[in-house]
Amino acid sequence: MSEDKVIIVTGGSGLVGKAIEKIVTEEGKEGEKWIFLSSQDGDLCDYAATENIFKKYKPTHVIHLAAMVGGLFHNLSHNLEFLRNNMHINDNVLQLSFETGVKKVVSCLSTCVFPDKTSYPIDETMVHNAPPHPSNYGYSYAKRLIDVANHAYNEQHGCTFTSVIPCNVFGPHDNFNLECSHVIPGLIRKLYNTIEKGEDKFYVLGSGAQLRQFIYSRDLAKLIIWVLRNYEEVEPIILSVDEQAEVTIKQVAEELVKSFNFKGDIVFDKTKSEGQYKKTATNSKLRKYLPNFQFTPFDIAVKETVDWFKANHKIARN
Ligand code: NDP
Repeated sequence: MSEDKVIIVTGGSGLVGKAIEKIVTEEGKEGEKWIFLSSQDGDLCDYAATENIFKKYKPTHVIHLAAMVGGLFHNLSHNLEFLRNNMHINDNVLQLSFETGVKKVVSCLSTCVFPDKTSYPIDETMVHNAPPHPSNYGYSYAKRLIDVANHAYNEQHGCTFTSVIPCNVFGPHDNFNLECSHVIPGLIRKLYNTIEKGEDKFYVLGSGAQLRQFIYSRDLAKLIIWVLRNYEEVEPIILSVDEQAEVTIKQVAEELVKSFNFKGDIVFDKTKSEGQYKKTATNSKLRKYLPNFQFTPFDIAVKETVDWFKANHKIARN
């Protein structure tokens, strides 16, 4: 079988990369050779290391996921590293894709790079409208520059470089470190530890009132593969669950308690920082392309993630 497309996935060992690998393995990949990269294959902050990767694999297509990624508390104290590392990674990947004639690049932004003060729901046209939330401005400005670069590569060189904007992602292979993880994996680790220690109080930082849209990594993987194969715009596309599927952090905590069958109490620590109150995004552009896409129900996705963590907690990122 000839493989016309050679697709490299930067960040292939991460939460989203692992989910894409699973979907590609399950659904088949006729005519496509997929290569999943991690930082072991080379530091993408370094131009020469990135060049070696492009010379070695000669990709025709790139899914660019690699990034320095972290939760609220890690971002708050490391904005400079988030800014610089992500700018270097993105510049190297996009420039080498251009230099080596890659036909299409799909990069990843995030709904948390949108303006802090905004109208709702957020849509794709609003990325650059106003400053991001001060807690994660380093990550946000580095991500926003991907969209600026995509347009510049397209205008000057005709490149098809585009980006997707996922809402909060969760699933197997997430980063379950208590200090620098996102909310769902962080709470999974915390509740697991609470149960292990035989304690009966599950402490959640913040009031629990904040609203978030969460997408299961396996649903996001299917959508990113669809974007690679079918989406031809340079403009970004939001990949999120529907607005009605938004949940509070309290609901997240309750769903975790159910999945773990925890019999104790949830205690909200209202003195702690909790980030933006909400960042509701519309997926109406996605729905125009894929009106019938079925997202995995939140309770099932949480249960699958908890079950994966219980079975893999020794090897899970911590
Ligand atoms: P992870 O933190 O799970 O994985 C990060 C990946 O990037 C890993 O494969 C890591 O390799 C690789 N990486 C990091 N730094 C470098 C480097 N300097 N050189 C080479 N590779 C590197 O990320 P996610 O899967 O969660 O995120 C994927 C993308 O989706 C990112 O661009 C992120 O910004 C975006 N996104 C994520 C969201 C989320 O909720 N998780 C929400 C919205 C967008 P290694 O394993 O070797 O360290």
